[in-house]
Amino acid sequence: MKLTIFGPPGSGKGTYAKMLGKDFRVPVISIGDLLREEVTNKSEIGLKIKDLMEKGDLVPDEIVLEIVNKKISDNVVFDGFPRDMKQISVDVDKAINLTCSDEVCIKRITNRLICSKCKKIYNLITLPPRVKGECDECGGNLISRVDANVVKDRLRVFKRETLPVINYFRKKNVLVEIDGERSIDEVYADIRKLFKLKK
Ligand code: AMP
Repeated sequence: MKLTIFGPPGSGKGTYAKMLGKDFRVPVISIGDLLREEVTNKSEIGLKIKDLMEKGDLVPDEIVLEIVNKKISDNVVFDGFPRDMKQISVDVDKAINLTCSDEVCIKRITNRLICSKCKKIYNLITLPPRVKGECDECGGNLISRVDANVVKDRLRVFKRETLPVINYFRKKNVLVEIDGERSIDEVYADIRKLFKLKK
């Protein structure tokens, strides 16, 4: 089964994709994490996409599709794919649309930290680390997400490029809308119900 989670930046799609991957024991393909890794490693691709990512723009489709084709398997949870109409190359069995207002997205992102090692996401208000600046899971350094200051641009890009993709899956009747403004536990309880997953 192939699943994908949509939602504006800050809606929590990365968090729920990781939780679903763990519960289903299937790989998660997080395009954002994979691209950030390329930037951190200063690879050829990383150098090409650094500025685009910092501005909140999408990375070229060829690069994203190459990464997806390398990683794809029969059972997978996508986080952040497909992000525009040209990326609709893979059929998904179910798509979740996490809804979240611009105001809430902006507030969440500006308070968000990510572990530089294991990529766990924290939020200074809703999910602070036990020790300031340190990951609870692996002790890695917590850093601000590169794109925190460009969240408004990212929201514009989301509406222009990704909303048509969401509509496409809605028309195909594979889309389920979930209110992403609630707590992680509440949202994930709905997602769990959707897949009849036990606690
Ligand atoms: P995310 O972690 O999903 O919020 O993604 C962070 C950034 O990675 C985005 O702002 C884009 O620059 C880039 N990105 C992630 N997924 C894609 C995709 N499917 N296509 C193009 N760019 C992407």
